[in-house]
Amino acid sequence: MTPERYEKILRVLRRRQPTLTVLMDEVNKPHNFSAILRTCDAVGVLTAHAVPPKSGALPTFDATSGSAHKWVAVQTHSDALTAVRTLQAEGMQVLATHLSQRSVDYREADYTRPTCILLGAEKWGVSDEAADAADANIVIPMFGMVQSLNVSVAAATILFEAQRQRLRAGMYGTPQLAPHDLHRLAFEWAYPDLAAGYRERGEPYPALDEAGQIVR
Ligand code: SAM
Repeated sequence: MTPERYEKILRVLRRRQPTLTVLMDEVNKPHNFSAILRTCDAVGVLTAHAVPPKSGALPTFDATSGSAHKWVAVQTHSDALTAVRTLQAEGMQVLATHLSQRSVDYREADYTRPTCILLGAEKWGVSDEAADAADANIVIPMFGMVQSLNVSVAAATILFEAQRQRLRAGMYGTPQLAPHDLHRLAFEWAYPDLAAGYRERGEPYPALDEAGQIVR
């Protein structure tokens, strides 16, 4: 671990936004799944959420992820409705990307609030059930011949609006992670193999000095 690498890890963690996330509901194409995670990393999402496709496992990561899957955790849920309710119970507003009577332009939402963006499967989108349970329905206005965007493009468009609003609100200027979580993650990112060993043994992580070296 070089001091420069450790400084980068700290810089990224200080900008992570634990109150901004996505819920991917059966997004099944690996390149879409990977591209969404890469955008999550770029805007500072700490943990993404996903309902695996009916076929079983989450899509595998491909080169499109640019290794983002190492830096954005993915929490799985059994179904979209349960996930929406769980995230709402944790204090998130869930914004479903869904065309309905109550849909609003995605730019009207307040992304400085704890927010989860619900994204639908490539073929059938967000279910009516999950969209109804969401706090709001948002859409990116479309003026072309084609009715919808690729899901990863829609995710990026909305997440960068969230980034714009949060930048303006100063939310990237002060760490949003609690100091304890920031130090825990810094150790896990700097020393993933060692961290796994400490967890297996049920031991606390050691302290790191300013250059990222383990204090013995
Ligand atoms: N036939 C599907 C439908 O009717 O919803 C199309 C799904 S679209 C290809 C896949 C996902 O991309 C959607 O569920 C949504 O999450 C996102 N998406 C695509 N276009 C969008 C738009 N204009 N506004 C908001 N989200 C959009």
